[in-house]
Amino acid sequence: MFSIYLWGQQIRVGIYRDNTLKRITISYNQGNYSIFADTSYFGELNQYEFIDLLFLNNKVQLKKGTTELGVFDKVILTREKNGASLTYKPVQPSVKPRKYEDDIEIKAGTSGLTLVNIVELDNYLKGVVESEGGGGKHLEYYKVQALMSRTYALKYLGKHKKEGFDLCDRVHCQAYHSMLRFTPLIDSAVQQTSGVVMKNNGGELVDAYFHANCGGQTSEPQYIWNSKIPYLNSFKDTFCIYTKQATWEKRVSKDRWLKFLVEKYNYPIKDSLFSSLVFTFSQPQRMAFYVDPVLGIPLRDLREEFNLKSTFFNCYPEGDDVVIKGRGFGHGVGLCQEGAMKMARFGFDYSQIARFYFPGIELDNTNELLLFNQRRIME
Ligand SMILES: [Zn+2]
Ligand SMILES: [Zn+2]
Repeated sequence: MFSIYLWGQQIRVGIYRDNTLKRITISYNQGNYSIFADTSYFGELNQYEFIDLLFLNNKVQLKKGTTELGVFDKVILTREKNGASLTYKPVQPSVKPRKYEDDIEIKAGTSGLTLVNIVELDNYLKGVVESEGGGGKHLEYYKVQALMSRTYALKYLGKHKKEGFDLCDRVHCQAYHSMLRFTPLIDSAVQQTSGVVMKNNGGELVDAYFHANCGGQTSEPQYIWNSKIPYLNSFKDTFCIYTKQATWEKRVSKDRWLKFLVEKYNYPIKDSLFSSLVFTFSQPQRMAFYVDPVLGIPLRDLREEFNLKSTFFNCYPEGDDVVIKGRGFGHGVGLCQEGAMKMARFGFDYSQIARFYFPGIELDNTNELLLFNQRRIME
């Protein structure tokens, strides 16, 4: 008897990692769940029922409805079959409810509850595509997003091993905030690409970086992280230049701008050539450094300090301000989401979109490998 679960791969995702949860209620949403706490079984969680979990003396106090069941090290809710989900409502602190599919494990952490969603990889990906994908609303766009998120998840599985899970739900890994807005289009996108990942010509999973809008030219990874990635080079992208986030403008006071450059980088303000250039900069092509590479002022540091949407900007002085006119939104490395949405609307399929942003990569189906391994187990 081999169930369908053998096909899917379950992963452990730490959820609500942005919050220190002291108390949360988890209620029935869909499917049947069994409640376990340490070695005891506490029956099913049925429609209209909820459990209430409180961080208490480094343990977990469990109530079903208002009935106290005891204080435990670990509480687990397991689903009977696929297609089950629960609604999570943090009470302390009060945070927006979310819906997660599959199982949940709750333990006491050092200062609050640790929640780990034990979830089929594809179910996890639906939540990630919803959180990271934005309003693309096109099947081929969601498919390429699913491909990227699967590749990333498999490459970085176990990043949080020390904390007892594989990945977290923050942008640190991939945002995974299922908000009850799940669309059937995302479901189809994940299913239709199930098992497919991006590999480089050496057969390794690629770094599936993406950003909202590249501003017309993608960025070299070494401009952002000081490390070169062979399949990711800067190139022109005309698909995104007439979209919402293609251009932006921001003003910063000259005092602040100057103070930062001089104090942090010893900008040579006494040198007449450099002092005349301090507020004026132009980037016909993406560059790594402000004014002159010899000064060693990385544009990514300016972006961080002044909270700019991208490093791809020109600037000039006006009155007491520096006027910054920029292009794009995000680090600019890898797939440009708004460009990818436009390509999908123009009729490109997800593999063409993936190859446009990651030239030279190959798509590989890991389910075929799983099937192979499974046959060996069954023989
Ligand atoms: Zn993480
Ligand atoms: Zn772009």
